[in-house]
Amino acid sequence: MTSATERVVIVGAGQAGGRAAEALRAAGFAGEIVLIGEERHAPYERPRLSKSLLLREEPSSAALLHPRDWYTAHAVTMRTRTRVEAIAPKSQTVITAEGQRFEYSKLLLCTGSRVRPLSGAPDGLPGVHYLRTLEDSERLAAELVPGRRLVVIGGGFIGLEVASSALKRGLAVTVLERQSALLDRVLPAAIAAHVASLHATHGVTLRLGVPVARIHGNAAVKSVELADGAELAADIVVIGVGIIPNTELAETAGAASSDGLTVDEHCRTSLDNVYAAGDVTNHYNPILRRRVRLESWQNAQNQAIAAARNIAGVSEPYAEVPWFWSDQLGANIQMVGVAEPGMDIVWRGSRVAFGLVEGSLRLAVAFNAGGEIRFARRLIEARAQLPRERLADPAHKLKDLLTEATCSASTP
Ligand SMILES: Cc1cc2nc3c(=O)[nH]c(=O)nc-3n(C[C@H](O)[C@H](O)[C@H](O)COP(=O)(O)OP(=O)(O)OC[C@H]3O[C@@H](n4cnc5c(N)ncnc54)[C@H](O)[C@@H]3O)c2cc1C
Repeated sequence: MTSATERVVIVGAGQAGGRAAEALRAAGFAGEIVLIGEERHAPYERPRLSKSLLLREEPSSAALLHPRDWYTAHAVTMRTRTRVEAIAPKSQTVITAEGQRFEYSKLLLCTGSRVRPLSGAPDGLPGVHYLRTLEDSERLAAELVPGRRLVVIGGGFIGLEVASSALKRGLAVTVLERQSALLDRVLPAAIAAHVASLHATHGVTLRLGVPVARIHGNAAVKSVELADGAELAADIVVIGVGIIPNTELAETAGAASSDGLTVDEHCRTSLDNVYAAGDVTNHYNPILRRRVRLESWQNAQNQAIAAARNIAGVSEPYAEVPWFWSDQLGANIQMVGVAEPGMDIVWRGSRVAFGLVEGSLRLAVAFNAGGEIRFARRLIEARAQLPRERLADPAHKLKDLLTEATCSASTP
């Protein structure tokens, strides 16, 4: 049990930080909660930033987890515009940039990630954008004027969502990707090709397999030059070449880290009484049987809840099959599991693709067919051998395959 004299300090008031504060109270934590974040907003979720907010379909406030008075009502002391500069693990204290000190009984790090800068890109050139914060989204939304030419550098999910929103707002859009396929880090090429054809069919120009050499412009961006010498005129450039987890604060205090802060199934870092959740972590996933660093809404929410419950004394491992969604050009794309090199790809009609390793399901991707994802997730959990031809045949329900797989697993 926790006592009213305990204090949990949460560093990072993003999605994970906000959800953790909520989950601490839901789990009955009666002590003090201090939530410290360097942005000026109360915690908000980022997925809308590249979708409805760029399309100006909703106000920015739609992204907030809760209105500010929710935090007061739940006795969460929120310090926005406040950066934590250091952790002193021996005295169990965090120190802010202004020198304020907060002692903690337990510390939860939800410092998330920041955009990876494109090397050689000019700093602060008008018309060149990155997208991570509400302000980034508002600035970009204001520039999405019909008829303008947008060049997106990076064919990952965020770049492709920006392309989709900009196309819908009447811009001419080109996506550049240095790899030979879109979504190279997260999807097998055979499935990513489906996303590429979706964009090409809607009129997005794709240039794959050529790195960017330079961005040109003096008072404002004018063009993007490719390594093959081609020069593309641009009124707006959006750079989406990945993120970097914000691990430095904890690393400096001595926390173990390797492609994200190392945490165990209970979200504990290597420092006593210090936990972490969300984009910043690298956790052991018992279902996948390996460590992963995830950049997703699901992980930010559910790992934060798991961390909070463990802090509140409910010992509970965090074990979920990774799930991600993206909305592009009228397609709702959902993926469950993770891609692995050399996967055997099986299409079930034209809207669902599976990735198998040695006959067992590890990845499913659904295009406007989210209903299949629930069973695919459970088939991944079951790790059963699945007959390729029945997976490929939409006449065979996944639900039935799951029943067979779980029955044969329980038969002695
Ligand atoms: C444009 C966009 C669209 C996305 N769309 C999807 C989607 O469709 N589906 C999906 O699954 N995922 C999506 N994601 C990913 C998802 O939003 C992230 O995985 C999630 O936001 C991670 O949450 P987090 O709380 O771990 O980190 P963050 O959201 O990065 O929050 C961390 C917070 O900590 C603060 N901070 C960092 N260091 C300090 C410090 N030292 N002191 C004080 N504060 C600090 C930061 O300022 C930030 O506010 C999207 C992300 C973006 C940017």
